[in-house]
Amino acid sequence: MCELEYNARPRRRDDRLRKPYIRKKSWIAEIAAIAAIGVPALLAAPPAAAGDDRPSVLVITVDALRADHLGIYGYSRPTSPTIDRLMSEGLLFERAWTPEPLTGPAMCSMLTGMPPHLHAATRNGLRMEAGLDSLPKTLAGKGWSTAGFIGAWTLKNNLTLLGDHFETYGERLRRRRWFGVLNSEASGEDLTDDALEWAERHHEKDGERPFFLWVHYIEPHAPYRFHKEYAERLGVNEDKLTRVDRYDTEIAAVDESIRRLLEGIKKLMADDNLLIVFTADHGESLGEHNYWGHGRYLYEPSLRIPLGIVWKGRIRPGAASSQATLLDLAPTLFDLVGVAAAGELAGRSWATAARGGEAPPERTHCYQAHRGAVHGGTHDNDQKRSKGLLSVGVIDGDRKEILRIIGKEHLSFDLAEDPLELDNMVTIDSSPSDALLECLGSVSQALGALDRLATQKLDDETVEQLKALGYLE
Ligand SMILES: [Zn+2]
Repeated sequence: MCELEYNARPRRRDDRLRKPYIRKKSWIAEIAAIAAIGVPALLAAPPAAAGDDRPSVLVITVDALRADHLGIYGYSRPTSPTIDRLMSEGLLFERAWTPEPLTGPAMCSMLTGMPPHLHAATRNGLRMEAGLDSLPKTLAGKGWSTAGFIGAWTLKNNLTLLGDHFETYGERLRRRRWFGVLNSEASGEDLTDDALEWAERHHEKDGERPFFLWVHYIEPHAPYRFHKEYAERLGVNEDKLTRVDRYDTEIAAVDESIRRLLEGIKKLMADDNLLIVFTADHGESLGEHNYWGHGRYLYEPSLRIPLGIVWKGRIRPGAASSQATLLDLAPTLFDLVGVAAAGELAGRSWATAARGGEAPPERTHCYQAHRGAVHGGTHDNDQKRSKGLLSVGVIDGDRKEILRIIGKEHLSFDLAEDPLELDNMVTIDSSPSDALLECLGSVSQALGALDRLATQKLDDETVEQLKALGYLE
């Protein structure tokens, strides 16, 4: 199991915890006011009426999207009017993390509810174990129509097996990036067109059945394009364009695609029949700790994600300030739609909190970072999984610890006092906490067991593409 329960006692809620991340007043005053309501307001909300609704579920994920570059999380630039409005209408998670800051592993975790060292897709290019249960698979068995549309090459079915979990899996990757010779991604426009076309077809043919639709946008993944049409709104000086400026215009562009997606979907159904999740696979380091990108380190910029769940009339708008992870999404959605998961899930359900009850108690969570992609082995037991582990980390309230496998470096930070993780509190007398050692033990042991799995040999096109994406070493 990935998640540890050393600290299952309910934590006293402390406003101090909220400040480092909600750094500035939101540019949209009413959204800031909603975010400031916090869990007590949720507790005071009357429970929604019980019912046997089977809502359609729309899961929108955005690649490499930092929470703190969105207005709803306090960013000063108006990068995300649609996302802000959407997330202000539901349960906003102020403190949410991805279990691993890499696309394939994170999205496999979100959809299966399993941490990477259990679903086996720990690196890009390593598939999940065959035959696992997942949100889309279980919901399909209960009558939901399921589809996934992906904008990122690393989520292709031949690399992840994710497509096997959906009745329809769209991989129309028509756009080139990195001056690559191969098409590696779908633009937000194409992806939105494809998802809407599917939803409209479903509505005409099978409108009585609820759907589970997942759409994964690639923007604002590096290298960041400049979208001139948003420069003025964002106050970007085109003569002195920075990488962060480009990154922010990418967010504005994906926000516009999401606006069009939501508008199209909402034409097909009443709001109270639609449960919407908005999140990211991981964040993005924009130069912090001298690092640009994501994947290799467990610092906050690439580990922290935005997360919100919206279901009009069923979830009262509010904000939750205790620690949540992408692993919580599967148990929460199963609970909200009234379907039992096929097996035990690592995360915790927030359904009670979303309905006006208590938030789950705080506990310690285990995080992991692995090497990028693999070429694929030619024989069994090539140790591609166990040799790929770079770091493990735990977060317990405000205390965060990281253990780097290479160099055996031990880091510890107080996220409330030192949100930028600049002041390592480890001294010569410190030793890793029991929680960190247990995290390392369970991840390493599981990876060792997974080495029995053969790694698939990747075709030449895939190898070239992963190289172009910067994932192959
Ligand atoms: Zn990603």
